[in-house]
Amino acid sequence: MVYYYFVCQRKLYYFCKNLHMEQDDENVAIGKVLDETAYSHAEKHITVNNQISVDYIEKSRILHEVKKSRSIEEAGIWQLKYYLWYFKQRGVEHLTGKIDYPLLKHTESIALTKEDEAHLLNVMKEINAIQGMKTPPPRKTKKICKKCAYYDLCFI
Ligand code: SF4
Repeated sequence: MVYYYFVCQRKLYYFCKNLHMEQDDENVAIGKVLDETAYSHAEKHITVNNQISVDYIEKSRILHEVKKSRSIEEAGIWQLKYYLWYFKQRGVEHLTGKIDYPLLKHTESIALTKEDEAHLLNVMKEINAIQGMKTPPPRKTKKICKKCAYYDLCFI
């Protein structure tokens, strides 16, 4: 939900209302192939309390998220910051994060600051508010809309 919040709040609303349309989306299919082939040595998708799913964790206390491209980089960064915050709330501190872009052969290091924590608390309040909405937030045309699984729902 944190990821979707930063991608598009309308998308988050659809997701919260169990409107899942990702199965047919080509970008999701590419992501799945990437997921199956990249970092095959690592144990992947570590689900914690049925609440978060970390792509993989290095023994040196580094959480990894694997992304296809940097097109919605901000969302991936906040997703990972949320994971760091989530563990910290449960007494697991001194973790750091990395976002891996295997197609770009690039890795970005991510840390959680005090300011990030304050921002995340506000984001979570806003996510709760979006969850409780009766109608979706207004549509804002974005670069990603044409590739979004919900495009037909928003624009046709
Ligand atoms: S099509 Fe655009 S406005 Fe609609 S959910 Fe997707 S990203 Fe958001």
